[in-house]
Amino acid sequence: MTDIDYLVYPQWIVPIIPRQTVLTDHCIAVADGQIVDLCPSSQGRTLNAKHSIELPGQVLMPGLVNCHGHSAMTLFRGYADDQPLMTWLQQHIWPAEKAFVSEDFVRDGTDLALAELLLGGTTTFSDMYFYPDITAQRADFAGLRAQLVFPVLDGPSAWARDSEDYLAKGLQLRDHYRDHERIEIGFGPHANYTVSEATLKRVATLANELDAPVQIHLHETQGEVQMSVENLGERPIEQLQRIGLLGPRSQCVHMTALADADFQILESTGAHVIHCPRSNMKLAAGICPVQRLLDRHINVALGTDGAASNNRLNMIAEMQGAALLGKLESGESAAVSAVTALEMATINGAKALGMEQKIGSLEIGKQADMIALQMDGLAMQPINNVLSHLVYATSGAELTHSWVAGHLLVVDQQLSTLSASHIAASADSWRARLLDFHALKMGTHPEQPPEINH
Ligand SMILES: [Zn+2]
Repeated sequence: MTDIDYLVYPQWIVPIIPRQTVLTDHCIAVADGQIVDLCPSSQGRTLNAKHSIELPGQVLMPGLVNCHGHSAMTLFRGYADDQPLMTWLQQHIWPAEKAFVSEDFVRDGTDLALAELLLGGTTTFSDMYFYPDITAQRADFAGLRAQLVFPVLDGPSAWARDSEDYLAKGLQLRDHYRDHERIEIGFGPHANYTVSEATLKRVATLANELDAPVQIHLHETQGEVQMSVENLGERPIEQLQRIGLLGPRSQCVHMTALADADFQILESTGAHVIHCPRSNMKLAAGICPVQRLLDRHINVALGTDGAASNNRLNMIAEMQGAALLGKLESGESAAVSAVTALEMATINGAKALGMEQKIGSLEIGKQADMIALQMDGLAMQPINNVLSHLVYATSGAELTHSWVAGHLLVVDQQLSTLSASHIAASADSWRARLLDFHALKMGTHPEQPPEINH
């Protein structure tokens, strides 16, 4: 038998597969970054392991999979809140990005995001932002698992000149990480209203050739759908299907304002839906009909979106949001149950990213991507139902331990690969720079409310 590196003895194990299972008096054995046994604790005590980790009062489950975000935008957290989507983008976020986005900005913003993701239970994340080479380096350093979709736009940014430049840089990055254990590079065309059809077709051809993931913002608002109908004579998802951009490696982020034909396109192409409930609610964008999608066997996973529109990167809060919003949307309290929300944040996320053979559940042979959550706070008592508590009673601060590929990245609520104090200091220096920028732009100070509500 393989030499066991360590055994973990939590109070409960929620393996996600089999469905709706809570194990007690069980342990997990890890060797070479993989789960090699999941057995009764009494049996575990007879195994030969280098060491054991005892986690009384804690639940062990798969690490959460955050399928959509823009990490570096953590530095815009709380900047220009409570605005409509297009005002928020055109008058606040895009000008600020134009002024600030650089390698340094992306490095510091990404580190802040990675720290928050880890402390909130995310072990795998997807990211779409400029300088994905920097994001990849930081994710590699911090030890998380990542799908990084490089941005594809027609117009210039600090990172690239035009669509060919975005594609050339992105493909070079994909090549660089081709054999990486934890990092995959895919295509991130921003949306059908910011990327021309010619460029979207190029993405479709290249992604199909390479069998690479493609992630795109799609149907974020009713207005976006109407604009596409007026300009192109078809709904955004119809355009993507027509040009061959939809398939089992496509990830459609948001998907609100759905017509019956849109469900059929998702069903027939096998494209995945990434639901970002808190961002959708905050921007009053629209509501994704999660339960109806799941009922039609369309895979729905979860994402936080960027911190500028959420404002947290906390997947526990996202599970809660998905369950609550799903009930409200369908008018059924049984819709998007706690068990379903847990699946969306784990195995469904793994499927959306094409990683379900490796992660998303605690099963023998999968990677040891795991998190432990403290369940003994008073707000969790009595523990009548562990699965329900994980979704409805958590605050998002219960995480104690986090492992990726068997490596401990959070130990007793402390980051092991990143420095929290360094990250906080650097975030504060960016706050000061943003304040100066805003004062210059507005001719005033951003903390004066009447002036920012323009
Ligand atoms: Zn987004």
